[in-house]
Amino acid sequence: MTIPNITIAIDGYSSTGKSSFAKLVSKEFSFLYLDSGAMYRAVTFFAQENALINADNIIDTTALKAALENLEVHFEHSDKGCVTYIADRCVEKEIRSMAVSSQVSPVSALAFVRNWVDARLHAMAEQGCVVMDGRDIGTTVFPDAELKIFMIAKDEVRAQRRFDELKAKGDNPDYEEVLNNLRERDYIDSHREASPLRRADDAFVLDNSDMSLHEEIVWIHGLIQGKFGILE
Ligand code: C5P
Repeated sequence: MTIPNITIAIDGYSSTGKSSFAKLVSKEFSFLYLDSGAMYRAVTFFAQENALINADNIIDTTALKAALENLEVHFEHSDKGCVTYIADRCVEKEIRSMAVSSQVSPVSALAFVRNWVDARLHAMAEQGCVVMDGRDIGTTVFPDAELKIFMIAKDEVRAQRRFDELKAKGDNPDYEEVLNNLRERDYIDSHREASPLRRADDAFVLDNSDMSLHEEIVWIHGLIQGKFGILE
C-alpha cells in the first residue's frame, strides 16, 4: 500500500511494544523510524557516567545543562532499526539496561532536557516521512501529525515482554523489579509538569495485550485505509 507523506506519532505507556510496532510500520511503509525514548536514555546514561545524577535521583542540573551543549547523540539506521550513538560510541546496549531505566524518568522530566531532545527530533524528522515513538509525540513534539496512535496493554503483559527482552540480551532481570519499574515510570511520565504522557484527543487507541505484531500491522492498514480513503 502506498500512503501519503505523513508523520506517524506513536505514544503510550512503557513497554507497550511501541518500538517493535514502529519499526515494523517503518519497514511496511518505508518510513524513517525515530526512537525518541533512546534520546532520553542516552542523556541519562551520559549523566550516570559523568556522575551528574546520584543514587537518590538528585541531578546536578547546572552541570547537565552545560554538558548538553556539547553532547552529540545520533541514530544510525539498519535492519535492526534505530541504533543509538554518543559521538562515535555505540551505546545501544547500555541505554537499555535496568540502571538506565530506573533513572530515565526523573531525567526526562526536566524541561531543558526535553527542549534539547525535541530540537534534535525535529531536525531528524526533516529527512522525510517519519514514524516516531515516545510519550509526547502526538501532544507536544508533532501535535499536527496526520496519524496518532496511543498504545496500551495490561501491566503483566508489558512486564513479561520487557523481562523476556532483557533476558534475551543476557541480563538476569527480576520480574517484580521490571513490573515496578514500568509502573513507576508510567507514574512519573504521566504526572510531570513538562509535556506529561497522555493520549492526544485525536489519537487512535491500540490495546495490544492479546495481539500479535502481524495483527497490529493488519490493524494499521485498516486504519490508514479508513482515515485516508486509500484502497489496498
Ligand atoms: O520509550 P522508552 O521506554 O525507551 O523511554 C524511556 C523513557 O524516556 C520513558 O520512561 C520516559 O521517561 C522518557 N520519554 C519521554 N518522552 C518521550 C520518550 C521517552 O519522556 N517522548
